[in-house]
Amino acid sequence: MTITRTAVVTGAARGIGAGVAKRLARDGFAVAVVDLAEAAGKPVVEEIEAGGGRALAVGADVADEQAVQAAVDRIAEELGEPTVLVNNAGIIRDNLLFKMSADDWDAVVNVHLRGSFLMARAVQGYMTKAGWGRIVNLSSTSALGNRGQANYAAAKAGLQGFTKTLALELGKFGVTANAIAPGFIETEMTAATAARVGMPFEDFTKAAAAQIPVARTGKPEDIAHAVSFFVSEGAGFVSGQVLYVAGGPKA
Ligand code: NAP
Repeated sequence: MTITRTAVVTGAARGIGAGVAKRLARDGFAVAVVDLAEAAGKPVVEEIEAGGGRALAVGADVADEQAVQAAVDRIAEELGEPTVLVNNAGIIRDNLLFKMSADDWDAVVNVHLRGSFLMARAVQGYMTKAGWGRIVNLSSTSALGNRGQANYAAAKAGLQGFTKTLALELGKFGVTANAIAPGFIETEMTAATAARVGMPFEDFTKAAAAQIPVARTGKPEDIAHAVSFFVSEGAGFVSGQVLYVAGGPKA
């Protein structure tokens, strides 16, 4: 008998999250497409359903404790008790330190760190009960330091420590926790960075590709492939790791 496992992917309405949601559906998971607005996740759900998969669009701000609990309760009720969590929701508020506002700091730290903590805490009970679970947190090569991203780099480095701690605490329940640190991936997030520095996106990606050992920028599918591995049945002995998916050793 094959068990249908339920996966939760945050920030899944577009970009990397949408790529991960579609890949996990193809891998056989029922997928909760969580994003700020439920309506934003509907096209991804429709695409998954058109391909014969099961999915549910759920609106929630991952930094809001009540909204997270309500979202996870609804997913358990309507889709199945979740045993896979991909913490992907993210924002950028780039600025050099001397120009960075406290609001820009709080917003970024809240979505990435508080959001991943709240989601993991809300879902872990289903994983420990099942004696099986997979948590994947989206870090970034920016965790190594990136000009103009003090808030984001701190959050992404923080996620690596968070991941390793979850691996230590949850391992004995059959739950693994790993982080993926992408390099340059073509999404609206990198398009926004190009706009901020005043470069056409095409020129921006070309310039980025010139610095990447495999001589191209990444696509959401590149990250989805790594997620697919971490959440697979066979990856149960891989935990607490940070995988740089950046076309080279770092970026
Ligand atoms: P994206 O295109 O900007 O998509 C992010 C998604 O997250 C959006 O759908 C956004 O919703 C949603 N979101 C934002 N805040 C949220 C919140 N509080 N609650 C729920 N959903 C929220 O970004 P991406 O490039 O796919 O990035 C995905 C993840 O990978 C992020 O964690 C990012 O930091 C990380 N990453 C990306 C790159 C890259 O090169 N693109 C590199 C390294 C790491 P709205 O549309 O409503 O804002």
